[in-house]
Amino acid sequence: MKIQIYGAGMAGTFLYHLLRNDVEVRVSDKREMPDCRCAWGIEYTDAKRLYKEIGVNLDDYILLKPKYSVVNGVYLKIKNVVIFDKKRLLVDLWKDIEFDKIDADLYIDATGVARAFLPKIENDRVLPTFQTLERHEIEDNIYIYLTKTGYAWAFPLGDNKWHIGAGEFSLDNCMELIRKLRDKYGFEDKNSECKCVSAVRILQPSKCKPFVYRNTVGVGEAIGCVSGAGEGNVPALRSAKILYECIVNDKLDEYENRILKELEWIEIEQKFVDDYMKNKKISALRLLPKIISIESKRSVELSFTTFRKLIGL
Ligand SMILES: Cc1cc2nc3c(=O)[nH]c(=O)nc-3n(C[C@H](O)[C@H](O)[C@H](O)COP(=O)(O)OP(=O)(O)OC[C@H]3O[C@@H](n4cnc5c(N)ncnc54)[C@H](O)[C@@H]3O)c2cc1C
Repeated sequence: MKIQIYGAGMAGTFLYHLLRNDVEVRVSDKREMPDCRCAWGIEYTDAKRLYKEIGVNLDDYILLKPKYSVVNGVYLKIKNVVIFDKKRLLVDLWKDIEFDKIDADLYIDATGVARAFLPKIENDRVLPTFQTLERHEIEDNIYIYLTKTGYAWAFPLGDNKWHIGAGEFSLDNCMELIRKLRDKYGFEDKNSECKCVSAVRILQPSKCKPFVYRNTVGVGEAIGCVSGAGEGNVPALRSAKILYECIVNDKLDEYENRILKELEWIEIEQKFVDDYMKNKKISALRLLPKIISIESKRSVELSFTTFRKLIGL
């Protein structure tokens, strides 16, 4: 079988390295260099386990293990999130990739938010993001300024470097959120060393169908594998692993169901975000215990009362 992967981000590079000993596979990306548009947070346990399968030791790329995530001034103990050098990891993985375009039997859409090779999603929800790279002497925690429709973040990268950014319904709102984050935590408005405008898909996989269209299959953010908080790195890897297993076992017909089942937690989180944004309080409250149970394992220690207070439910 010949496979062409479009997009060499989180999902595409990982899938390539999983597949390369089994089939003829090539990759094509519209960029010359890996895309670094991300705050660089990642759920440690899953990422470590998955990368080990392609011979990568995630620990070699970890920049920091912050102790707290400070959300609207409330300190939450981080359980399982680290900051990794995503750019260096992707640069290293690109070194072994055969970039080319071939006539393939199967095409993979791993183009992330662009979803460039699958049909457009009806009522898609893609939020603009803005991020800068700055230097600040502030204690290394993750700082969040959260509102009902988005949030601003400051992620420490070590050596006083910080990713400061926001995702919201408009770029103007992103800037306003960043301003509030600066006021709240004391991040001065300094010259940035680098900045980018991008976007993140906040829509559950079940609303990102089709996953398979003719001989093209989607993976990662292209099919909505992003948590309710906009965290898509590990979901991209997990969806790529599922796709790999379906391809080598000739079970592509099981792919959609496996994504929906094994990434069900994303469905729950995105449903919660949807209810919360639309002010469907009772429905959102019902989902709250599940969200707390999911995120207490994946990211931060969270109690029902604290979370409820933080989001004003
Ligand atoms: C500002 C920001 C901050 C974020 N912070 C975090 C975070 O801290 N932690 C986290 O877990 N997630 C974060 N995310 C989300 C995360 O980065 C993505 O969900 C994740 O990278 C998705 O992986 P992917 O492989 O599906 O797509 P991507 O990693 O985005 O890769 C897509 C690739 O496709 C290429 N491409 C696009 N169009 C085409 C085309 N037409 N032809 C060929 N190639 C194409 C792109 O160049 C890119 O290399 C953030 C997102 C943004 C925008």
